[in-house]
Amino acid sequence: MPTGERSAPTLRDARAMLSGSSTVQDAVRQALSLEREKRDLNIFLETFDESALQQAERVDARRKAGDAGPLAGLVLSIKDNLCYKDHRVSASSRILGDFTSLFTATAVQRLIDADAVVLGRTNCDEFAMGSSNENSAFGAVKNPLDPSRVPGGSSGGAAASVAAGIVHAALGSDTGGSIRQPASFTGTVGLKPTYGRVSRYGLIAFASSFDQIGPFAHDVHDTARVYEVMAGHDPHDNTSSQRPVEPVDLEREPGTLRIAYYRECLERPGTDPEVVQHMQANIDRLKSEGHRVEPAELPMLEHLVPTYYILATAEASSNLARFDGIHYGHRSEKATSLEEIYRFSRSEGFGAEVQRRILLGTFVLSSGYYDAYYAKGQKVRRIIRDATLRTFNDHDLILLPTSPMTAFKRDALTDDPIAMYLQDIFTVQANLVGIPAISLPTGTHGNGMPFGTQLMAAPFQEARLLNAAATLFGA
Ligand code: GLN
Repeated sequence: MPTGERSAPTLRDARAMLSGSSTVQDAVRQALSLEREKRDLNIFLETFDESALQQAERVDARRKAGDAGPLAGLVLSIKDNLCYKDHRVSASSRILGDFTSLFTATAVQRLIDADAVVLGRTNCDEFAMGSSNENSAFGAVKNPLDPSRVPGGSSGGAAASVAAGIVHAALGSDTGGSIRQPASFTGTVGLKPTYGRVSRYGLIAFASSFDQIGPFAHDVHDTARVYEVMAGHDPHDNTSSQRPVEPVDLEREPGTLRIAYYRECLERPGTDPEVVQHMQANIDRLKSEGHRVEPAELPMLEHLVPTYYILATAEASSNLARFDGIHYGHRSEKATSLEEIYRFSRSEGFGAEVQRRILLGTFVLSSGYYDAYYAKGQKVRRIIRDATLRTFNDHDLILLPTSPMTAFKRDALTDDPIAMYLQDIFTVQANLVGIPAISLPTGTHGNGMPFGTQLMAAPFQEARLLNAAATLFGA
């Protein structure tokens, strides 16, 4: 086995190895040593060596007894905004100090109960705010495919942990694209489920009406297996849906699909010409395979990003009010009064991007501006939602690029927040509407970096989405 490579990148490979003499403990040791080898990529903030090896030992014992869970052999990373009891969690922020989780996120617990092993917590943009993983208080993550480039964000560490071959799958969170865009930048598969499909209990909130937890993996098969275990109602999260989870069948022939795409996405000047060509080639191929692929109306493409940033920052300013230097985490040593505790602790604890968003969010919620920005934003969200759902009246899927460009160079956009925000132009629609969306690696740009192709489906149509991803793109 060449060094720097995992011998079993997917769950199926891991299973094949386990059917020989190899153990889950071997797999965890191998992952830990690979993580050490690749430390300069800054992917993990911490590996949980002791608890991972203990869990592996338990899984090995269950395998011997013949009652191992469906994810036995799966080595998993979790984004550093997911709580895991007795382990640290920081949202890649200084404000949380050395806070340790008091309980485990439902999504993480369900995977552990299915016998996955949690290897460690991955670096991300602070409070999941960013598109390049350069906003972490603990340094940027490098793209394993080309370390001079970013891995995307905000779940950049999660995507990189899979792309670097350290883990089979990773959990990230997606508020405006933070699973799909880094998946696209690293050549991995990333799924954002329907809003309410996966419990958010134990996810550090950024924008509660947008946030969803979802998986990254090397292929659709592993993505589906992890998704199925996590999905479903949770009494701890009253926004989680009661609807039963449809089983995913990746082998089923999908028949002739009706697929919509948006001309506006291909015609807008900011999209890389090779991304456009690649999308056109996909459209032509799907047509030649007999699917009905046709343009649909996307009202207000240029309003998607502003609407998202108004509403998401409003929610963030409210969610982040709890980090006040008193309840938990960092407290300023300079403070001599209550007001100074708030002011200094928050100024020292939050990074520049998080402060920018708290300011913007507080502004759009303030009296005198509320109706002009927040209330207007809500109305525009509803219009976008209605128009998108109408498209699904006569289409099964919507096809679009994940990102207007492939992975860019580190530091290229750090001085230009607006250019950074525009990275999300093709991903925020799914969060504004609450629909499921997946990013698939579908080819390579002339610059050597992967293209990501995105599919969106109607609410709770994950089974159809994953089936189409596997059958149309062989991903
Ligand atoms: N890049 C977007 C933002 O910075 C999306 C973040 C996310 O999905 N968590 O808000």
